[in-house]
Amino acid sequence: MDLARFLNTEQQKAVRALEGPVLVLAGAGSGKTRALTYRTARLIDNGVDPANILTLTFTNKAADDMKGKIVKLLGKERIKGMWLGTFHSICLRILRDNLARVNRSEGCLIYDTTDSVDIIEDIILEFGLDDLEYEAKIAYNIIQKAKMELIAPEFLIKEYARENKGSQHYYQVLSRIYQEYERVLLNNNSFDFNDLIKKTIELFSKYPEILREYQNRFKYVQVDEYQDVNHAQYQITSLLSEPEGNIFVVGDDWQGIYGFRGADIKNILEFEKDYPRAEIIKLEQNYRSTNNIISVSNQLISNNKQNKEKTAWTKEGDGAPIFLTRAKNPQVEAAYVARRINDLVNHYNYSYKDIAVLCRTNFQSHYIQQVFPRSHIPYQLIGGVSFFDRQEIRYFINYLRLLVNPEDGLALKRLFRIEADGVGDVLLSEINRYAREHKIQVADVLADPTRVKGIGEKKAANLIEFKLRVLDGIRGLRKMKMPFPRKALQLYELIDFENNVINELGNTAERLKYINFFMEDIHNYHKYNPGSTLYDYLLINELLGGQDELEEDNTDSVKVMTAHSAKGLEFPVVFIIAVEEDVFPHQKSLEEAAAGSNPYAVEEERRLLYVAMTRAEKILFMSFSQRKSGNNGEEKEVKPSRFLYELPVERMDLSSVDILRKSRRLQFKKDPTILKKN
Ligand code: ATP
Ligand code: MG
Repeated sequence: MDLARFLNTEQQKAVRALEGPVLVLAGAGSGKTRALTYRTARLIDNGVDPANILTLTFTNKAADDMKGKIVKLLGKERIKGMWLGTFHSICLRILRDNLARVNRSEGCLIYDTTDSVDIIEDIILEFGLDDLEYEAKIAYNIIQKAKMELIAPEFLIKEYARENKGSQHYYQVLSRIYQEYERVLLNNNSFDFNDLIKKTIELFSKYPEILREYQNRFKYVQVDEYQDVNHAQYQITSLLSEPEGNIFVVGDDWQGIYGFRGADIKNILEFEKDYPRAEIIKLEQNYRSTNNIISVSNQLISNNKQNKEKTAWTKEGDGAPIFLTRAKNPQVEAAYVARRINDLVNHYNYSYKDIAVLCRTNFQSHYIQQVFPRSHIPYQLIGGVSFFDRQEIRYFINYLRLLVNPEDGLALKRLFRIEADGVGDVLLSEINRYAREHKIQVADVLADPTRVKGIGEKKAANLIEFKLRVLDGIRGLRKMKMPFPRKALQLYELIDFENNVINELGNTAERLKYINFFMEDIHNYHKYNPGSTLYDYLLINELLGGQDELEEDNTDSVKVMTAHSAKGLEFPVVFIIAVEEDVFPHQKSLEEAAAGSNPYAVEEERRLLYVAMTRAEKILFMSFSQRKSGNNGEEKEVKPSRFLYELPVERMDLSSVDILRKSRRLQFKKDPTILKKN
């Protein structure tokens, strides 16, 4: 492979480093991901068995992109057996081959945040705790954080009480909730999202011979966006790359944005300490952005203390200045963005798909979503409420889950709520308690529910009817041999989903439309994945639903998304909206910084803005509002983000800072051609 055609000298050096630990540390747009991609292709081209290569990414989109590029270079046949995917999907693959060893069995599914919070709510109820003092969502966050740091329930007090965020007693109770939560997951034959990584590590430490198998297999371990690995993910990569330490990672400490998910940029800053033999390669030429974009974003990030020095340069000229705009309010801001987009498309050769609108949280895209349709701008909201989060689909998935995994107590519980009249949560938890104490399944308790305290004749009759009709029906279907899309349809009819659920929820026509989409989706999945099962289908969707994903999309539309979802991506034109105090930096981070619980919270916000700005190739717009409506409906004043004051004005265009007057067509007086796309 003639590397010199595709890569600069430093990148080639990275690609040629095959033995021992290698860290490629460089700023945004310097070709790290590209180096990783070509390294993989070259390994295979040089005769390495693809099965010996493991590449880990953070999003499915990144994995798909990379795979597509390697296929382009080598063809589909030659990459067979290669493992390339997100941490979660790779770990799931390992776990699926070892289910019994992690105390799970066939049919084991993954709970998402909503599921987990529901379970914790029930536990809090069952423990008779005050749900104001013990909020399920907060407990969930702490438990997930503990999981990412590989802290077991019994160590929660020791690890967290001293952070003095709560009393010793609080964490004692929390540790009991955590313990019970783990028991429920085990009992339900389920994992939560973070279990995928935690359980893989447990598997490896309990069965060293299994670890050795994977170590022997993966002679080359590679990681993209290494700055975002958390402790558990770090463990996975370092375990798998032992004993040779053949680990190749690329990353940028300036882009660490997942501290709130337990990521620790120390991992990248201390790579040299962990691997004393490590070769460190720096890339300096930037291929993505104009000089103005690079300079302005570098100037911003230089305000962070926790930084490795980096140099960046580009052959590109200065390009357009960074446009900064102040709008009267978010509505005007959205209208301004829409007008600029139409300018770019109508007069400067851009297509809608060249453009991205980035915001701190999806909430800020609210007005954009109102204004774009009126301005005839096609757009796609990435990471909004997904199809699979729609209520009717979630309900139906519950039935499907039970079809695949009879032990799914949570799915069962939800069916109760729909199907069994008059059985409230208290009774339900009695039934659960009974099942647990007698070590039988809930479905078995229902064969004779009068055994349970507090169940009268009438309720018992309801429950028996429910068991016969729904549970036994599902059990019968489970045993039948037929293609799973047909099974799903039969189930739909068996439980009379349309009458029992859809009609109850209201908005019938729309819900029916979505349920039909869903059935179609099942059907297509089966068609395009011969030999797949309903279990595969559910797992894939759970895995994809757990992260912000960019769906496959070739339509010509503007992409609207959070700065987090934009990582690793690039667009000719980027708008960053609502660059305001309390938004960017986010209020939560400011509070954490003020309370001292996270002194680096503001630095992480600054890195996030750096990520957002460095997505732009040619033109970058930033904007903020002067006033917006607060919670009580009253207008309140908004301050521009502190970060804006850190940017060098000489590379910016402030002429539209005041668009209180009606704004004219986008122009750049010095040299209008500079705005044109090529
Ligand atoms: P980020 O930190 O944002 O993920 P990155 O360092 O991974 O950025 P890439 O996405 O790999 O950067 O590269 C940025 C752009 O520059 C891509 O469009 C890539 O194809 C292009 N590029 C990288 N290296 C070269 C090169 N040697 N020659 C031409 N184009 C290059
Ligand atoms: Mg990259």
